[in-house]
Amino acid sequence: MISEADARAKILEAVRPLPARKMSILEALNRFAGDDYLARLPLPLFDNSAMDGYAVIASDCKRGARLRVTGEQPAGIDRKLRISTGETVRIFTGAPMSVGADAVVMQEDVTRDHDEIGVNVDVDPGEFVRRRGCDLSEGQKILAKGERITATKLALLVSQGFDRVSVGGNVRVAIVSTGDELAKPGKKIRPGQIYDSNSVLLRGMLEKCGAVVSMSEHCRDDAKSLEEVFRAAAKNEILIITGGVSVGEHDLVQKTLRKLEAKIDIWRVAIKPGKPFLFGQLKGCFAFGLPGNPVSAFMTFLQFVRPAILKMMGANDVELPRLPARLADNIENASDRAHYIRGKLERGNFTPIGRQESHALFGLSQANALFRVDVGESLKAGKAIDVQVWE
Ligand code: AMP
Ligand code: MG
Repeated sequence: MISEADARAKILEAVRPLPARKMSILEALNRFAGDDYLARLPLPLFDNSAMDGYAVIASDCKRGARLRVTGEQPAGIDRKLRISTGETVRIFTGAPMSVGADAVVMQEDVTRDHDEIGVNVDVDPGEFVRRRGCDLSEGQKILAKGERITATKLALLVSQGFDRVSVGGNVRVAIVSTGDELAKPGKKIRPGQIYDSNSVLLRGMLEKCGAVVSMSEHCRDDAKSLEEVFRAAAKNEILIITGGVSVGEHDLVQKTLRKLEAKIDIWRVAIKPGKPFLFGQLKGCFAFGLPGNPVSAFMTFLQFVRPAILKMMGANDVELPRLPARLADNIENASDRAHYIRGKLERGNFTPIGRQESHALFGLSQANALFRVDVGESLKAGKAIDVQVWE
């Protein structure tokens, strides 16, 4: 059995970022930037009006002033209109400012009378004008290599004229659930059977990472079938197996991987839940064997598989986000492994939730945070802690 820290280090040492490539921004959501990106256009792109109203010269526009409307400036075309003292241009939100104007009066603050307006407010220079470059200057960094490409980052890239973006590696993953007792979702089950919930759990978490699930199969506890499925799955960058990695007679995963000449780097890690965890390499594919118990599969995925995938995808931060919290209950870890407690983080309080056992899927489904308690640690309610979040 190796320590959690050693296992993580070993895995992160073994995996490498895959080559970056350019793709349409329509496919890039949730991937990681393969390059640094600098602004090539200022934002806003030109001085424009923040309101539907009238472009004016502020010094010419005291409350009670009357101005002659000399033209109309809609958004979408620059009519290059110009105003002088005593004049105004009807202007709309997003339309280019008229030359000579330095403010906009909202249409709600004027009285229109044919081709004249009466101004009902005092106007300051710059009011309701969005200045070129006030949000973003040319050359400013807009996206760093290894940063997650979110919807807002995509919008920013598009605002700069990009329609393609360099993204880090595409990680294809095969999921293989093992166990004679497993039935497919929705199918009728016989006495002694249970539903295969791990496959969908892993698929959801993989998709959240931005990885591509290219294959998901169930396999019985049968050496020949496992061999066949593992062979096909090894064409992917990553193979995730659940169940069958423990020590029972029906736990054939490790034996089968060895038969296929896989190199097993890790077997059994000192965390709870999740001890019977396996990591190895099968013909250039990284294989992760996760325990069948749902909470163990979840935990080992988050602590070991997720960072590996993010590194391969080119992420510069592979850690789970952490938030400060206050512990709501007393907690003690009398076991010989670090214990990840599932709990609910609400208004800054972390409350352990459900049965803290590796099969307890209901409790897990109610949890939104994890708290790691070291071996021998004993903590009182009210203590300030850090929790990991994944949602
Ligand atoms: P194993 O790791 O194969 O010894 O399985 C440990 C426990 O997890 C057993 O109670 C299994 O029935 C259960 N289990 C295994 N695979 C799955 C799965 N895909 N979905 C839900 N439970 C599972
Ligand atoms: Mg099994």
